[in-house]
Amino acid sequence: MARIVMKFGGTSVADIERIRNVARHVKRETDAGHEVAVVVSAMAGKTSELVDWTRQASVIHDAREYDAVVASGEQVTSGLLSIVLQSMGVNARAWQGWQIPIRTDNAHGAARILDIDGSELVRRFGEGQVAVVAGFQGLGPDNRIATLGRGGSDTSAVAMAAALKADRCDIYTDVDGVYTTDPRIEPKARRLKKIAFEEMLEMASLGAKVLQVRSVELAMVHKVRTFVRSSFIEPDAPGMGDFDNPPGTLICDEDEIVEQEVVTGIAYARDEAQISLRRLSDRPGVSAAIFGPLAEARVNVDMIVQNISEDGTKTDMTFTVPSSDMEKSLAVLEKAKEAIGFDVVQSEPGLVKVSVIGIGMRSHAGVAATAFRALAGKGINIKAITTSEIKISILIDSAYAELAVRTLHSVYGLDKT
Ligand code: ADP
Ligand code: ASP
Ligand code: MG
Repeated sequence: MARIVMKFGGTSVADIERIRNVARHVKRETDAGHEVAVVVSAMAGKTSELVDWTRQASVIHDAREYDAVVASGEQVTSGLLSIVLQSMGVNARAWQGWQIPIRTDNAHGAARILDIDGSELVRRFGEGQVAVVAGFQGLGPDNRIATLGRGGSDTSAVAMAAALKADRCDIYTDVDGVYTTDPRIEPKARRLKKIAFEEMLEMASLGAKVLQVRSVELAMVHKVRTFVRSSFIEPDAPGMGDFDNPPGTLICDEDEIVEQEVVTGIAYARDEAQISLRRLSDRPGVSAAIFGPLAEARVNVDMIVQNISEDGTKTDMTFTVPSSDMEKSLAVLEKAKEAIGFDVVQSEPGLVKVSVIGIGMRSHAGVAATAFRALAGKGINIKAITTSEIKISILIDSAYAELAVRTLHSVYGLDKT
């Protein structure tokens, strides 16, 4: 007997038929004698609709009221799944974040989980009860509902698994694992049997939305055995109930991966905006004068490129921000123009960042050169580059996004054969 957390995303609970299918996956595990906590997302598209309603009500609105609205999608699915489970003879009950409680910080709309009291759930496991927990939500220090940011049910699930000391956390979604790149844009993408925590962290933060970044951080810190797998495979298909080796992708320590490739995957993120400050005075403190006010305005600056000035007086600085923050950033820079000291500011929204990720890069030279050569071969112009030990990110025009992803996927030999 083991303890399992099973998380089901939006498409997996998109309607009552799909919820019935989810219930059969849950019943498979309870029939096998396991203790189960289920974490559910809202029905596909529901959270976006709720977000849109808050904007229609008022573009500027109280984040606490936003949370009261957008957390409601998960309340519905947790109740519905419990009803269906009960109708199948499974003892189940729905839990909202505040009832457990899942305690978060006060950052409404993008809250972090601080603590989960799993004791009542564990007590009820002893009585054979399944917990059906609303994902994406918790209780803030102000005693109000707080949501965890888009895609946050993944984080609810991994945090629950850590708090309940579960043997496994299964993230059920509409793909049967983590692929070498988004299978929606490259059909030749291959499913990975295993991926290292650090690589998954890079993949997620560089755009692969299959897992929320924070969920991977938690899985890594708490060593949660996390599988990404499909709810669309029949619940009683061969191997689905295999405890040690279920079909899907295991997120694990790098030492668990025997055959480490140089490049593991390609990720992409749309809607990056590039901002360039021209003829900036080249003196100490100028970067602080630019990025200080942007940080205060809560703009998340990503790639930063500074030119070395020819004569030590003037330079250029280019950086990227999310397209949605571009106007705000330009207003902040204009306001600080005197303190910064630049001539003109240029901006371009709607760019794409394509990234090559792999732990094997640490010990291999020439990985970046291969990417640049391959993109040049397709006539794709590179606007900015950043690298770290295990990734290379390249900024390009959005029109070339899919071509760039496919080109890089193929040049590193990731295509399915
Ligand atoms: P859920 O609603 O279950 O949380 P998401 O839509 O958040 O599902 O995440 C699953 C989607 O992530 C897939 O449908 C797929 O298009 C996308 N995705 C992006 N990159 C990858 C990748 N490398 N491997 C698998 N899926 C990916
Ligand atoms: N329902 C929330 C969202 O759409 C959380 C999630 O699905 O993980 O962002
Ligand atoms: Mg998701």
